[in-house]
Amino acid sequence: MLFKKKDEINDEYETIIIGGGLAGLTAANKLAKNGRKVLLLEAHNKLGGFATWFKRAKGNHIFDVSLHGFPVGMIKTCKKYWNKDIASRIVQLKGVRFVNPMYELQSDFTVEDFKSKLTDHFKCPQEQVDTFFNELMNMNYYDAPKMTNGELLNHYFPDRNDVHRFLLEPIVYANGSTLEDPGITYGIVFSNFMSKGVFTFEGGTDLVIQMMKEELLKNGVDIKLQSKVDRIVVEETPEGNKAVGVELKGKLIKAKSVLSNGNIMSTIFKMTGEQYFKPEFIEKAKEVRLNTSSCQVYMGIKEGETLPEIGDLIFYSEAPEFKTDELLDINTSSRTFSVYYPKTRDDGRYTVVASTNARFEDWSNLTEEEYEAEKEKMIEDTLCALEKLVPGVREKIDFIDAATPTTIKKFTHHEKGSSFGTKFEGLDISMKLHKEVDGLFHSGSVGIIMSGWLGAANYGVIQSFEVENYLDQIS
Ligand SMILES: Cc1cc2nc3c(=O)[nH]c(=O)nc-3n(C[C@H](O)[C@H](O)[C@H](O)COP(=O)(O)OP(=O)(O)OC[C@H]3O[C@@H](n4cnc5c(N)ncnc54)[C@H](O)[C@@H]3O)c2cc1C
Repeated sequence: MLFKKKDEINDEYETIIIGGGLAGLTAANKLAKNGRKVLLLEAHNKLGGFATWFKRAKGNHIFDVSLHGFPVGMIKTCKKYWNKDIASRIVQLKGVRFVNPMYELQSDFTVEDFKSKLTDHFKCPQEQVDTFFNELMNMNYYDAPKMTNGELLNHYFPDRNDVHRFLLEPIVYANGSTLEDPGITYGIVFSNFMSKGVFTFEGGTDLVIQMMKEELLKNGVDIKLQSKVDRIVVEETPEGNKAVGVELKGKLIKAKSVLSNGNIMSTIFKMTGEQYFKPEFIEKAKEVRLNTSSCQVYMGIKEGETLPEIGDLIFYSEAPEFKTDELLDINTSSRTFSVYYPKTRDDGRYTVVASTNARFEDWSNLTEEEYEAEKEKMIEDTLCALEKLVPGVREKIDFIDAATPTTIKKFTHHEKGSSFGTKFEGLDISMKLHKEVDGLFHSGSVGIIMSGWLGAANYGVIQSFEVENYLDQIS
């Protein structure tokens, strides 16, 4: 059932899921389908987490925050762990473009196309390209990290900044990877993305989350929105520490297990408390680095106006060379444009969302005036860039606003507005949480590879199996 804000929850659950992001939602659905009694508590007034949307100008414009593209694997995940209707709305994005001072290219983002671009456009030897792709396709996440992304690219394509840009830039946007991150984080995500192209959900984020909500309720999940969990309640027993429920607005809700979809650091240090973990674990957890954040500029096109077909997803940059640091700079000239044509929602409307990677500190340390000035500058820079792709577009826009890392922190409770969870080392900590505190699990963007729509949903499934095992054991 869907609880109202004031409703009291008196039941006891087999699992309480904290957070309705894609990982939390998918874990909840899987557990409920298996007949488990599940309560899902979400801090916000809607489900989805980063998979979100918002309306402006009296609902005339709907903006999708993170629906820019995901791998084909999402079809299988939705078919298996959600339902066929959701899976059947996933369609390929045909127009992926790259526009920068080094090259202008269009790709369907498949392995075949990337390989042929590398040989035909970038003139890389066929053998070199084949060996590189073989190495990527054979990576798996149990492998110990060998090379960094930078070393991997330099090994196969030495002194080819243009090739590095072509291969890494989309992944930097997709999960915040840098040249210093382990090559495996690149290999796995790249080979995921590259198997059959980039995909989107027809109907928009609002529709997919609505369909997921209906499926959850159908499968018997209890859902309560506007319910920020303050504390995970842990009991000290002779066998060890054990999660026994959560505290919501000062009241205990009992459960046999708790799965947090919140940020891993908040889960350990804010919601649980470090006293319940071994000192060695806490030491390692403190070393986990958060991933970077994002900025976005949302542009709504006037009713009746149209945009030409300029592509669905455009990797645009004015930087003469590719540097991952440049992509993070507050003054970056590199951004993606996601263009939503009327076909997205069948509503005759066009919107454009521009995204850049960003550092939380660059925005959080500004005074109020400095912040407003930087935001205005970012909006203006974005408009100037878009005008190069669509001359005169400024006149067609009747709504424009921007979000920064501080906006992201405010709405998602992610430490430092981290868009893609943690760096690689966060995965190990997340997966070992239940070995420290019985019945306490985590699922959600960690370790780069478990982020993004597909990574988060799949990690929800993986952790739901762990919860199942635990519940079986204790019964
Ligand atoms: C700007 C941007 C663009 C992106 N673009 C893409 C893209 O094009 N393709 C792609 O695949 N991925 C994209 N992503 C990433 C993707 O959206 C996320 O990796 C994924 O949605 C994260 O899911 P999650 O399950 O980890 O949880 P989150 O989405 O982080 O959700 C966690 C939920 O937990 C809730 N919560 C936290 N603490 C509490 C608490 N104490 N009590 C109750 N509830 C709590 C939060 O409110 C939130 O709803 C993008 C992300 C950003 C920020």
